[in-house]
Amino acid sequence: MIRSLYTRVVLIFLVSVIGGTLLSFFIATWAFREQLNENLRLPMLYFGEDVAQIYKSQPDDEADAFVSGMRQLSTYHVRIYESRDRFRAYGELNGASSVVITPEQIERVLAGEQVQNNPNGLTVTLVGLPFSTDTGRKALFVEPIGSPSAVFIVKWLLSFSAYALAAGCVVILVAAFFLVRPIQKLTTATRRIAEGDFDVKLDIRQKGELGTLARSFEQMIRELRQAETMRRDFVSNVSHEVQSPLTSISGYAVALKQVKLSEEQRVRYLDIIIEEAGRISKLSSGLLKLSALEAPSPHFRREPLQLDEQIRRVVIALQPQWTPRRIGFELDLPDIRLTGDRDQLDQVWTNLIGNAIKFSPDGGQIGIRMTADADRVTVRVEDQGIGIAPEDRERVFERFFKADRSRSRKYEGSGLGLAIVKQIVTLQGGEISVESRPGHGAVFVVSLPREPQN
Ligand code: ADP
Repeated sequence: MIRSLYTRVVLIFLVSVIGGTLLSFFIATWAFREQLNENLRLPMLYFGEDVAQIYKSQPDDEADAFVSGMRQLSTYHVRIYESRDRFRAYGELNGASSVVITPEQIERVLAGEQVQNNPNGLTVTLVGLPFSTDTGRKALFVEPIGSPSAVFIVKWLLSFSAYALAAGCVVILVAAFFLVRPIQKLTTATRRIAEGDFDVKLDIRQKGELGTLARSFEQMIRELRQAETMRRDFVSNVSHEVQSPLTSISGYAVALKQVKLSEEQRVRYLDIIIEEAGRISKLSSGLLKLSALEAPSPHFRREPLQLDEQIRRVVIALQPQWTPRRIGFELDLPDIRLTGDRDQLDQVWTNLIGNAIKFSPDGGQIGIRMTADADRVTVRVEDQGIGIAPEDRERVFERFFKADRSRSRKYEGSGLGLAIVKQIVTLQGGEISVESRPGHGAVFVVSLPREPQN
């Protein structure tokens, strides 16, 4: 229970308030003790002197009658000693026992000394003063009845502190509840998220630090939800992409077991199996490349490149794909140098030109144009192929996206090529976009900085 934040807040408050109140009470009384003392002693002394004056100016009997009628006797008790055991007392004590006056104190006052009782250093409970009349030296003792004002002030201060403390406790019990509530909500939300439930609503409208924390938390939930959706899509896409070639492989493997198969059929089935296995292998190498590129600090080399030469080499390497289909190239590649990762950029041009070939009609033309200014190089890969619908233009860079799944079977591919291209271009500090009209070909435009910053 002590571990809960609520209990801690309440305990910290109580300890600091009780400790603080007591400490300040003692400091205040210590600092004011002289004044408190004086405040109490002087009225007693003045009253004692008045009584002594009366005795001095009148015969004892008259003085006795006069003093007995004094109004101050409601607050002071007076004893006048003529010797150790002969005294007159004035004033009602109302049940309270009077302060014990020691014979030694009587002797000292009769000898002409002033005495006072100051038991706790704060309150004066007795003042003794000497005076002389015609009948000899006397010792007069004044004692306050009930609460003298200074003591009363101290008591009042104490009870004030106690009430303030009690009221403070009630307030903090309620306030701590509201203070801790948002944190409890955050804890519950965290627990639910840990259990995989991302449909959490926090409903914390506070401003300040807790509000900021709540906003950041909500942002984190949104991103986690998105990541979870992406993860699910990813798993289902991978399974789907692996499932279809596996089904073909197992189907044709079963067919191969038949005894009555012509040599021609056997070779055809084996070719299909090899081709489908190749698809799975391409998919897995594509996934590996993507995950390497998406690593927190992907491998990125900086080397000087002759870009026009690199692109020409890629076109030549892809010759087996375009020559049989009589596809022609129009190259406008001026002499341009750039700093970048040779292998990664090789992959970019291979994927883009490979797609242009794949989606071009037989006998089509592919244009590759390059322009540059002081800081950037722009490469345009243009084909006259099937083009991309406007709604698909942004999505072609997503993993596993294929514009038309039923048609894609004809075109082959896992839908990872452009995702890899986008990732590499971004890592090199560049941008990629696509322009296209369905049926009228597509243009992929890559813009790269000559000197990447990172
Ligand atoms: P794939 O490996 O399937 O080609 P990509 O990521 O390279 O995957 O391309 C994703 C999708 O974008 C393709 O399936 C295709 O629908 C579309 N696409 C890419 N390049 C072109 C292009 N030059 N012309 C028309 N469509 C294209």
